[in-house]
Amino acid sequence: MTSNKLGNVLIRSDLNVPIDNGSILDNFRIIKSIEYIKELESISENITFISHLGRPNGIDQSLSLKPIAEEMSNLLCQDVTFINKNIGIEIQNKLMKNKNNILLLENLRFDDGEVNNDDKFAKDLSKPFDTFIFDAFGAAHREHASVVSIGKYLTSYQGPLMTKEVFELDKLLSETNEKFTIILGGAKVSDKLELIKNLLPRVDNLLLGGGMCFTFLKASGHNIGKSICENDFINPAKKILESADGKKIKLPLDFGVTKSIDVHTRHDIDLNEFSEDDIGIDIGNKTVNKFKEILSDSKTIFWNGPMGVFEVNEFSYGTRSIAELISGLNVHTIVGGGDSVNAINKYSDIDKFNHISTGGGASLEYLEGKTLPGVNKYNHLIL
Ligand code: AMP
Repeated sequence: MTSNKLGNVLIRSDLNVPIDNGSILDNFRIIKSIEYIKELESISENITFISHLGRPNGIDQSLSLKPIAEEMSNLLCQDVTFINKNIGIEIQNKLMKNKNNILLLENLRFDDGEVNNDDKFAKDLSKPFDTFIFDAFGAAHREHASVVSIGKYLTSYQGPLMTKEVFELDKLLSETNEKFTIILGGAKVSDKLELIKNLLPRVDNLLLGGGMCFTFLKASGHNIGKSICENDFINPAKKILESADGKKIKLPLDFGVTKSIDVHTRHDIDLNEFSEDDIGIDIGNKTVNKFKEILSDSKTIFWNGPMGVFEVNEFSYGTRSIAELISGLNVHTIVGGGDSVNAINKYSDIDKFNHISTGGGASLEYLEGKTLPGVNKYNHLIL
């Protein structure tokens, strides 16, 4: 093996992290994206990262990747050169001048060729490079130029992060062990309905909390006061509850409620005690105990979505309790979705989970049973 066998490498990563006024709020995706850079450096001339950030409409400096280059430099203790474009001779020159550069190019979506899957954009982007590595699971459900088209112009591989994601999610899709429990929360049921339909036949228990459980509770005839509810999804939720597997669904028994989300006072009530102006913002103690019993008796757990409005300390009890419990269990644990990852970072030790999925929408679509355009498209890179 020659030491520079991959030549100039272009990696499509998912560096789409929350940024507020130039400060990175959560660097988990960045840490994962650079985890194997030392191994890669030993077989590459230069390494160049590309990614999208947010949904810009043309060039928008608030969505520049510059702060991410700085964060990568800090994490790697090594210079990461930011180039404020994706295409052009400047990139070629930089690669020719020195070896062992690490570069980060500007937000791919500043050019609408990316989201329009423009072939010329993909070809121009590929020009200075020899090898392409697709390692952005969070973008794998998009038919974008850097996902599906650029691979036509370079020797291309699927990166190690992608391969691990797919392996872990495939395990859930083919789970045959007894005692497989899924716990879902978050704001909306509409995002997760297809996943529920696909996975419900394979699980032993589906625990529902967060805002999404209220659509199910309304569907089963409960008064939910002014809690968040997606009325268009009441009928689909009812059908699921009435299906053969519906009895596997466990809904909360009690709630923390408030009269206004902006007023951070909470009192706890049983499910049958909702008054017309109560807003459910967290699961209560009886629910936490019931969920704990089921989770403690599980062998595989998949968790997606917080149990309440956990961003507010007074409404975080349920999410914190579940994070603490799952992190202490000696079972196979997989967590997906940005907010659940924030929660476990906040309340427990992230290293105690077997797998943390970096792809929000992509993980949900994959678990719905869809074929994603960027998954298993290229040969796997073994480092
Ligand atoms: P998602 O992106 O669908 O996973 O939703 C995450 C968001 O759901 C978080 O910002 C939570 O504050 C919100 N959430 C969780 N529980 C509730 C609830 N009971 N009412 C309103 N929003 C909620």
